[in-house]
Amino acid sequence: MTHAATLTAAGFTSAELTGGTLTVRSPIDGAEVAHITETRVEEMGEIIALSQAAFRQWREVPAPRRGELVRLLGEELRAAKAELGALVTLEVGKITSEGLGEVQEMIDICDFAVGLSRQIYGLTIASERPGHRMMETWHPMGPCGIISAFNFPVAVWSWNAALALVCGDPVIWKPSEKTPLTAMASMKIMERALARFGDAPEGLVQLVIGGPAIGEALVASKDVPIISATGSTRMGAIVGPKVAARWGRSILELGGNNAMIVAPSADLDMAVRAIVFSAVGTAGQRCTSLRRLIVHKSIHNELVARLTKAYASLPIGDPRVGTTLIGPLVDHASRDRMLAALAAAKAEGGTVHGGQTVSSGVPQGGAYIAPALVEMPAQTATVKTETFAPILYVLSYDDFAEAIALQNDVPQGLSSCIFTLNLREAEAFLTAAGSDCGIANVNIGPSGAEIGGAFGGEKETGGGRESGSDAWRGYMRRQTNTINYSAHLPLAQGVKFDF
Ligand code: NAD
Repeated sequence: MTHAATLTAAGFTSAELTGGTLTVRSPIDGAEVAHITETRVEEMGEIIALSQAAFRQWREVPAPRRGELVRLLGEELRAAKAELGALVTLEVGKITSEGLGEVQEMIDICDFAVGLSRQIYGLTIASERPGHRMMETWHPMGPCGIISAFNFPVAVWSWNAALALVCGDPVIWKPSEKTPLTAMASMKIMERALARFGDAPEGLVQLVIGGPAIGEALVASKDVPIISATGSTRMGAIVGPKVAARWGRSILELGGNNAMIVAPSADLDMAVRAIVFSAVGTAGQRCTSLRRLIVHKSIHNELVARLTKAYASLPIGDPRVGTTLIGPLVDHASRDRMLAALAAAKAEGGTVHGGQTVSSGVPQGGAYIAPALVEMPAQTATVKTETFAPILYVLSYDDFAEAIALQNDVPQGLSSCIFTLNLREAEAFLTAAGSDCGIANVNIGPSGAEIGGAFGGEKETGGGRESGSDAWRGYMRRQTNTINYSAHLPLAQGVKFDF
């Protein structure tokens, strides 16, 4: 399908795609596909005020009724899955199956949030005082600002929006300036759900388009109590302290540097499949992409040989073609950063396999590159840095404790995994002295999380949690209630205050 046909199928008119200051290029061939109108910083006050007004109404709507809006969003997403998935491919360069998978993730979180809308449970707590009852109640917080990254241009919004909406919070979304089209298309889908819902307050779900300055307006506003920001650690280091300084709550989902330990007992056939998918899938542009392989010395050479062979067979090219497994990087700057990291790794003693620019058999104008496997003598500064591209550094280890120490000795703490058939190693990996990451898997790669679990990581990954489990609590405020149904007023801890 041509870019124009994909945009038309996603519901865009030519007026929406022309005349603005934000140029959108497709990574597939570098073509300019739109010039979008950006939100002006001066408009942000009004947008936030509208969100506050929507909050005052929405917080009074019963949670199961709020869930109905998210149920309708899920229905509309199901109906628009093919068109939105194709647009993800156009705007980010993901292969078709991953573009569709991203929309499926949106549908999945809607289903989760609909169920949650009837399960916003608090505790009842035993009181030490006779005739008293204690409980916990969860209340909406207020507008939730969502700042998202280019690599999951729509799923990250839905993780946040679906939960925030059932929790009673309006949302204001600032997508990556690289991916405004998928955001605008998602808003069109949301608007269809809102129209069917009927009586949602105006401004309940808003979209703002632009770069960091627009994000900063959300970050700076006391009227946006929650900021959920997904992106680089560099961005989080700016946003986190600013939100904290005004006593806001931030949910930070930042960079990862995810590792797999491959132990001597590992099922190598399975490990190879998991490694290849998680290291080169989405052209290495997932926050959970596999970036470090920590392999036992006894199987190091065999595994590297098998991986080099597998890497050589991977089809690189137009992500719209069904057989392609590796599409382009998001832009040429990203490819330059990959080449610079490979040169730095080489200077640190690394042996690089692959990593060459690909220009034949691919659309011209895109940043196509072969994934790289780099054997490293040690965990150097370059290995400890997240380069958002398909580079897999291979390290080796002698004993298990050394493998765990290597796995944890990086600034980031998002995802991790081990391939082993040794029960002791598998269980040890998941203990307090094992992986220090937010996600730790056994005999499965580090990427491709399901929405049912809480998603996020520690250290420079930011500590935030989104998606499943009890991540919803991040979008609500907790209230502790003590109710006295007796005719006396005893004080806790036996304190006497008689007068
Ligand atoms: P980025 O940090 O360049 O941009 C992310 C978003 O932050 C964009 O919307 C951008 O406009 C905004 N932004 C940048 N500076 C800002 C500021 N000072 N104030 C407010 N907003 C600001 O990241 P990217 O290149 O789009 O995405 C790739 C990065 O995102 C990688 O590091 C990846 O690991 C990370 N990521 C993390 C997760 C996760 O869940 N942990 C998920 C996806 C991506």
